[in-house]
Amino acid sequence: MTTPIATLYDATLPDLEALLAEWGQPRYRARQIYRQLYVNLVDDPQHMTDLPRALRDRLSSDTALTSIALVQVQQGDQGMTRKALFRLPNDAVVETVLMVYADRATVCVSTQAGCAMGCVFCATGTLGLLRNLSTGDIVAQTMWAARELRGINPDLHLTNLVFMGMGEPFANYNRWWAAVERLHDPQGFDFGARRMTVSTVGLVPGIRRLADEDLPINLAISLHAPNDTLRSELMPVNNRYPLADLLDATREYISKTRRRVSFEYVLLQGRNDTPELAHELGRLLRDEHAEPLLYHVNLIPWNPVPGTPLDRSSRNRVLAFQRALQEHGVPCTVRVERGVEIAAACGQLAGQARQSQPSSINVEFV
Ligand code: SF4
Repeated sequence: MTTPIATLYDATLPDLEALLAEWGQPRYRARQIYRQLYVNLVDDPQHMTDLPRALRDRLSSDTALTSIALVQVQQGDQGMTRKALFRLPNDAVVETVLMVYADRATVCVSTQAGCAMGCVFCATGTLGLLRNLSTGDIVAQTMWAARELRGINPDLHLTNLVFMGMGEPFANYNRWWAAVERLHDPQGFDFGARRMTVSTVGLVPGIRRLADEDLPINLAISLHAPNDTLRSELMPVNNRYPLADLLDATREYISKTRRRVSFEYVLLQGRNDTPELAHELGRLLRDEHAEPLLYHVNLIPWNPVPGTPLDRSSRNRVLAFQRALQEHGVPCTVRVERGVEIAAACGQLAGQARQSQPSSINVEFV
């Protein structure tokens, strides 16, 4: 019989209840399955030992956990950074990165295979958009990370979930937001909304929509330049949503939600990291936002992408940029790097995978 759900990770609890009703099973079986998936992190119906064998067999034969298949896991930072490559049914690949620290663990999840936004410094942007991920695909990546973490340190749980992997989440808003709600569901994975962060290239309608959502997840906006000329060169989306519109939407978002926004700024040597540009950015943000505590600038040393004519800013230039911003009273930190040796920048491993067969990926460790 055809099930009304695409995969188990695509199903809400009511979806599961409908499926179980169709199968003539009591309603409470759906809750058992939901807990097995999201509390016990079971990835095989045969391991749901509180279910009758016949039901486990039916789940195995008539449903799938997810439509994405784990191809490879690479390790860096002495095993504390792990990058998974998943293959989608259309052979596109997506990446998920787990970063484990002494007292916390962050997973970076993809929302699209490839990306249509075309940022010039981004490996994913060179792929173009290959496919939107389903809600279940997004949930499945998070569950992989939760299971992987359990194997590394059973006492540690995921503390942060960032939608900063491949793709632009607001370009796949409905499926992405359904994943946020699923992962937040107190009857299931129960992941706190305030520990989730979405990063956008600056899609203004998405920022406005997020401001009206009832879950208080965090917002990070990719800025990367203090003026329209440079930003349009680096990020074509700026032609559609220029800085003035973006900052208007950000101001509205802050005033509606009273939540702090992060501005992300990837530093590229000689392109957007000069002292003049740092001061221009400082003046822009100081003028635009009267309440400095409600935004923050995150400076990101760029992970080199082979084949691009761009260079990574030297440490001295990064620190000089930070000092210049601080002179304007702009709150600003430099992101700690993880996973450089496993090509952990967004889209790099997937780009390499597309150049070879997914089964024969060979990424050098340095
Ligand atoms: S930086 Fe983000 S939005 Fe830009 S091309 Fe890469 S994945 Fe897309």
